[in-house]
Amino acid sequence: MLPEIKGLNEECGVFGVWGHEDAAHITYYGLHSLQHRGQEGAGIVVTDRNKLKIHKGMGLVNDVFNEDILNNMQGTGAIGHVRYTTAGGSDFINCQPLQFNSQTGSLAIAHNGNLVNATALKRQLEYQGSIFQTTSDTEVIAHLIKRSGYPDIRDSVKNALTMVKGAYALAILVEDFMMVALDPNGLRPLSIGKLGDGYVVSSETCAFDIVGATFLREVQPGELILINDEGLHIETFSPSTKRTICSMEYVYFARPDSNVEEINVHAARKNLGKQLAIEAGIDADVVTGVPDSSISAAIGFAEESGIPYELGLIKNRYVGRTFIQPSQSLREQGVKMKLSAVRGVVEGKRVVMIDDSIVRGTTARRIVKLLREAGAKEVHVRISSPPIINPCYYGIDTSTKGELIAAEKSIEEIREEMGADSLAYLSVDGLMSGIGRPDTMENCGQCLACFTGTYPTEIYPATDHPYDKVLGGK
Ligand code: SF4
Repeated sequence: MLPEIKGLNEECGVFGVWGHEDAAHITYYGLHSLQHRGQEGAGIVVTDRNKLKIHKGMGLVNDVFNEDILNNMQGTGAIGHVRYTTAGGSDFINCQPLQFNSQTGSLAIAHNGNLVNATALKRQLEYQGSIFQTTSDTEVIAHLIKRSGYPDIRDSVKNALTMVKGAYALAILVEDFMMVALDPNGLRPLSIGKLGDGYVVSSETCAFDIVGATFLREVQPGELILINDEGLHIETFSPSTKRTICSMEYVYFARPDSNVEEINVHAARKNLGKQLAIEAGIDADVVTGVPDSSISAAIGFAEESGIPYELGLIKNRYVGRTFIQPSQSLREQGVKMKLSAVRGVVEGKRVVMIDDSIVRGTTARRIVKLLREAGAKEVHVRISSPPIINPCYYGIDTSTKGELIAAEKSIEEIREEMGADSLAYLSVDGLMSGIGRPDTMENCGQCLACFTGTYPTEIYPATDHPYDKVLGGK
């Protein structure tokens, strides 16, 4: 994944384990396989059944943890988090899991997604005396849980979750059990696996393979599941649920070896490429994909069109993370460092370049330029998702329309700006049929809001209130 040059960033990954004697190490490996979902911070909280112990920090999982740290985190239950910042600020203080201690016990929480009413809730809680330590919307959930005050924490969590709106896949750890919960729209994926006599939970199923777990079930929208030594205890907290999982999980965010609601992500992307070839075929010599997330779609396009797939672009995996270089000129330099066009493949050829999405357009423009500099005779850009014309409020960092080139310009204007010979996007219908979710729900039970503007929840536009400028992401 190349989040820093795509301009479209994942929002976080959560992982948890219950009933394993080396919960911290298992969580470390799980987080490693979710690293593509967030590279700015990582953390693990472990329980030895008496107390919680936390370690977290800025950077990659490997930067934050080492053998000594993990050996010092003894326990049989743990939750972990990898974080990408949206609007909440990228300070250490916002790293997750967040841990809270009180006289009645401790609680740690890891959250993937974004609440849409966090600002209003936070304002209300502060008027009532709450003091917040972070600018993360996740802390709002913790305050609501603690304030609910039911004798059984499950009831407090359920009560809190009836107040928050938006996207949340949660892992919550207390001393003697773990809980997971998913918002009533199920906007983000969250699965449970079996590991020996214990359980693991993960934003993506790819983490199960790494730790030797087997897939058990997806957490369903509106479910709160308590996991302890006796097994899973499933409850619901919302009377009305309707799955609208994020389509971009299939298009771009999730790893190709993950299954999202039993659909393999690589297979879905390949189908999107096939569908794109049907909708927007072109006479050309080679098909290439922007690594890594567009390779599957490029293979599908090649298969359907009969044009050979070639490795026309390669990624240099060992350069530094360019997102710590914020200026445009450095970002441009970063693209060149990260991607190279293979002259031997593209020189003198009519190239179809498959990309999974266009956000600001700068990346695609640079890649077209790279291909031309390497001698491509023609460059035809094909995008395996529809134009992104609306912001996402559920944790993806496209928070204003002004950042979205397709919201501002026509396809012809974008083509001209990127210097391509032709440009075409996949249709919304093509996206749905390519992903292939069962057609039993309107829009196949998936969020399409950034393409269509139809949001699955209420949204609360930002105001001039100072909170709105700092709250809203992790
Ligand atoms: S608006 Fe787009 S990116 Fe956001 S959850 Fe919906 S489909 Fe995913």
